[in-house]
Amino acid sequence: MPESGSKMTPATTHQARLIDGRAMAMRVRAELARQVATLITRHRVTPGLAAILVGEDPASQIYVRNKGRQTREAGMQSFETRLPATVSQSDLLEHVARLNEDPAVHGILVQLPLPRQIDELAVIDAIAPQKDVDGFSIINTGLLAARGMGMIPCTPLGCLLMLKEYVGDLSGQRALVVGRSNIVGKPMAQLLLRENCTVTIAHSRTRDLAEECRRADILIAAIGKPRLIKGDWIRPGATVIDVGINRISVPSPNGPREKLVGDVDFDTAVHVAGAITPVPGGVGPMTIACLLRNTFTAACAQNGIDTGQLSA
Ligand code: NDP
Repeated sequence: MPESGSKMTPATTHQARLIDGRAMAMRVRAELARQVATLITRHRVTPGLAAILVGEDPASQIYVRNKGRQTREAGMQSFETRLPATVSQSDLLEHVARLNEDPAVHGILVQLPLPRQIDELAVIDAIAPQKDVDGFSIINTGLLAARGMGMIPCTPLGCLLMLKEYVGDLSGQRALVVGRSNIVGKPMAQLLLRENCTVTIAHSRTRDLAEECRRADILIAAIGKPRLIKGDWIRPGATVIDVGINRISVPSPNGPREKLVGDVDFDTAVHVAGAITPVPGGVGPMTIACLLRNTFTAACAQNGIDTGQLSA
């Protein structure tokens, strides 16, 4: 079990550099919009992203709406398929098959989670690998693990872009990834390995999480437990990327209100880390920016166009 509570009081004078995911995502999207414009004028190809949303989950609806808006803002086409929560596996697979065949659609994402009657993995694996812009299918998972290539899952890709901007060369860095999910932890570890980091993966059975954290030059938290990682678990000067998004209730003069916090206890960590992402405004915006980037890359690949020729 991980240790809880802080052993020492961190010096409060030091302030880590804030890794501003929002600003970086805006830059990525602006550059992408320029590349998309060039793709359209030179090659008459407009990248298209199709989202399948099953059921009425409010958070999923907000995510899909935001993705759609940002897709259009980047000059790409956005398609949306809304299906009832009662949809059958075969109906859902039919929708995926139709999008696989549609030449205007270059990227397909199925908003997770899916209702119980649906076999999530079967649906993900039914997406054509070249259109699997979330990078969750078994083919893209295998390509990343075995060859360091393929469609890279958006959240780990966003984390990597931030690390490269704030740390630079990652080679030889000791990296700890806390969390081993297929969508964040595992692909993150693969990416860091590809960058020649010395990678450790921690999870709920890790014996002494605090000690593992203290060894890390780069700490990625993808757990889903509010403020689990304390400031005195962090190696002074380490770079901390907080993927967690947790809704907690905090008191306010007008009664309890909801607040978003990460997996890292930001208020203590900010005095120890060298650089840290805030929540919100860190990893989240970069995730959507990378989804758009993957869609653009997919559109180019499907039309035999070298993305390098489209850079400003
Ligand atoms: P999962 O629930 O799939 O995985 C959580 C991982 O954390 C598991 O590997 C689990 O270990 C590990 N874990 C749980 N408790 C502990 C603990 N006490 N100590 C160490 N490890 C622990 O979550 P996801 O990977 O999907 O997401 C993680 C977080 O990231 C969530 O808060 C989610 O909302 C957020 N997220 C944010 C995104 C963004 O764009 N910013 C995108 C995707 C996710 P075990 O395997 O042993 O159970």
